[in-house]
Amino acid sequence: MKNVVIIGGGFGGVYTALNLSKLFKKIDIKIYLIDKKNYFIFVPLIHEIAVGKISIDNAIVPYIDILNKNIEFLEGEVDLIDLDKKIINVKSFYGNIKLNYHYLVIATGSKTNFFNIKGAQSNSYELKSLQDALRLKNKLLDLLEICRLTEKEININIIGGGATEVELSAEIADLVYYYKNIYKNLNVDKIKINLIDKNNDVLIQFDPRIREKARNKLIEKKINLFLNKEVEEIGESYIKFKDGYKINSDINIWVAGVAPNLPNIVGDIKLDKTGKIIVNEYLQVKDYKEVFALGDCAYFLQNNKPLPNLAQVAFKQSKTVALNIYNLENKKELKKFIYKHTGDLISLGDWYAIGKIYGTIVSGKFFWWLWRTVYLFKIPTLKKKIKLAIDWTFNLFYNRDISKI
Ligand SMILES: Cc1cc2nc3c(=O)[nH]c(=O)nc-3n(C[C@H](O)[C@H](O)[C@H](O)COP(=O)(O)OP(=O)(O)OC[C@H]3O[C@@H](n4cnc5c(N)ncnc54)[C@H](O)[C@@H]3O)c2cc1C
Repeated sequence: MKNVVIIGGGFGGVYTALNLSKLFKKIDIKIYLIDKKNYFIFVPLIHEIAVGKISIDNAIVPYIDILNKNIEFLEGEVDLIDLDKKIINVKSFYGNIKLNYHYLVIATGSKTNFFNIKGAQSNSYELKSLQDALRLKNKLLDLLEICRLTEKEININIIGGGATEVELSAEIADLVYYYKNIYKNLNVDKIKINLIDKNNDVLIQFDPRIREKARNKLIEKKINLFLNKEVEEIGESYIKFKDGYKINSDINIWVAGVAPNLPNIVGDIKLDKTGKIIVNEYLQVKDYKEVFALGDCAYFLQNNKPLPNLAQVAFKQSKTVALNIYNLENKKELKKFIYKHTGDLISLGDWYAIGKIYGTIVSGKFFWWLWRTVYLFKIPTLKKKIKLAIDWTFNLFYNRDISKI
């Protein structure tokens, strides 16, 4: 029986598996999905775990609840892909498995890119996984306690002014005020939340009107904006900038920049300068028509610009990858991938979101509610949708979960 092997169970991989399973309903083909962990994580929500807004299990769904019987899940890390021999090696807790494939889908996502900045990796907190979110939450809660119980001033530094960093800093500001409501003796003036970017504005890739609204909201939340500040070095207790300026730090959060997260690949593949696999208009890897790549690890040019690292890109690409595997197998013409951006919504803490929908700039409470509704619909399985909706509703009226785990 022919098989399709999908490496990576994120937005790209999971939805490719589900789309394939629909298309190949009546045809005998085996679909394998391989991931290092046994659950899907809804990455755009993990910053809410870090500030105690949602519980851990609301952002994750075990693969077994999403995938159907046509898809076999294998837990393990792929450490080698041999494109010439059409074989992969999976390292797992139950041993090594070698798997031959007829079609291969590479959807291994990305990892944090520290751009070789001195001290950045060893002195920063990342935010890519569930473990990262918990580690960050524990540290933030420790710092709030230190601030409450001692005279110490706390500096929380968030590096990068992209959407994730902006959302995270607003959430941290809300966490601080939430803490202040519980502990009246907390002096919030001693807590400095510093958002740092080398550009002259936050959200540099967004419409200037969105940037202005975001900037105003961040300032309203007493977040200090360090713009035009390029980080040169990160130490345990400081950040040094290229212009010689230095700030103190009790925590550095580095979400800025991602690099593709690829296993070793034997074969003649072309990578872009960041290390992403270059794919053609059908999302195939050049010279290997049976191999596809999508999502954060793939480099796809449209109108001479590479597509951004977004869940909505990976999600939309998954349909084309599945269809093109189906078409190849059935000797039909392949479909070109054309990306149409649906819109952007950025939440800035409770009750406020800004964005652009079909070209119109929107902001306010209603769009914050819309932002949540969109995410609710995107999270897989009805069970998780209900749990998340309950968690969010509860958090509007009851205490956050600030247990350290
Ligand atoms: C904090 C944060 C917030 C974000 N917010 C948004 C947002 O609001 N909107 C938006 O559109 N995008 C957002 N993104 C970006 C979005 O999460 C990514 O673009 C999207 O997850 C990419 O999907 P993917 O399938 O390519 O990779 P991923 O979703 O990262 O999935 C890759 C999978 O591959 C697995 N894997 C990796 N290597 C191996 C291996 N060797 N063997 C086996 N398994 C492997 C990983 O475990 C992972 O499950 C955010 C990202 C972050 C970090």
